[in-house]
Amino acid sequence: LISAERAPVEERESIDRAIRPNTLAEYVGQSAVKEQMEIFIDAARRRDEPLDHTLIFGPPGLGKTTLANIIASEMGVALKTTSGPVLEKAGDLAAIMTNLEPGDVLFIDEIHRLSPNIEEILYPAMEDYQLDIMIGEGPAARSIKLDLPPFTLVGATTRAGLLTSPLRDRFGIVQRLEFYNTADLTKIVTRSGAILEMNIDHEGSEEVAKRSRGTPRIANRLLRRVRDYAEVKAEGRAHRAVANAALNMLNVDKSGFDHLDRRLLLTMIDKFSGGPVGVDNLAAAIGEERDTIEDVLEPYLIQQGFLMRTPRGRVVTRSGYDHFDRAAEFKER
Ligand code: ADP
Repeated sequence: LISAERAPVEERESIDRAIRPNTLAEYVGQSAVKEQMEIFIDAARRRDEPLDHTLIFGPPGLGKTTLANIIASEMGVALKTTSGPVLEKAGDLAAIMTNLEPGDVLFIDEIHRLSPNIEEILYPAMEDYQLDIMIGEGPAARSIKLDLPPFTLVGATTRAGLLTSPLRDRFGIVQRLEFYNTADLTKIVTRSGAILEMNIDHEGSEEVAKRSRGTPRIANRLLRRVRDYAEVKAEGRAHRAVANAALNMLNVDKSGFDHLDRRLLLTMIDKFSGGPVGVDNLAAAIGEERDTIEDVLEPYLIQQGFLMRTPRGRVVTRSGYDHFDRAAEFKER
């Protein structure tokens, strides 16, 4: 593989940091979310209060972490980051929370993966800024109560349905991120291309945008591969034909489907006559986790109309068959 893939981790991270928007104004697309957040942040600042607890949900790579960072910077406070699976013991959460300054944002990624005992601690912390934990074990165990500074919890999850309702109910603001359209992704690619000092024209950017599964993280990743390809094969000039050739080499097809998307659809067509097929059967057939199908693969395929969720299972649509030039085999269900 070429340059960026081999670059030291720090360099890749610094590219990621440079590309990630820092203000709401730089956050492309998601206009409903942006408009609301602008008002809520402005109001909280005028009242000199922390922003209400905010839940952000949407498939991976759509900008949840980015939005959490923007909330903190627009509020002028620090952001502390952790994630559901990392918080194993009550003490882990207590250590982070007792380090919060007034108004700070505590960002919990994959918040649906918190263990039940940690969730219990979170409730009073969210409602009354009270930390109520047990220390010690057996007869020596005792409960201690600590006051926390007012803070904002920002939680991120791939699907809102994964959260327990007591947790979901404690968020005053709930935002759902949508897949990005080609125009918005083109803006993101153009902006990233400029930050990377690339020689890429509008058509080149649009080609990357079209094949990015509606997802900024994928767009930025493909852009870096196009940059490699352009540097080696086209003297750095990333116009449409070069972008196209690079993306074909990466096995990203005209709809932006990668190898896994195609395997999912083709397995459904070839092994299950297009469905309906249950998600567990499908997971076994393609050798992937059920979560990968539900969180990563199917949201985009459903949004694009290639796949449908029915009470009896998943079904490939006519467009799905058509994508592989196999419309003749499609049967109405
Ligand atoms: P998530 O947390 O939802 O998985 P991230 O916030 O990490 O996604 O976003 C992935 C990358 O995509 C970010 O590093 C950022 O560069 C880019 N990105 C996400 N949303 C936007 C946006 N609205 N405008 C511009 N770039 C974005």
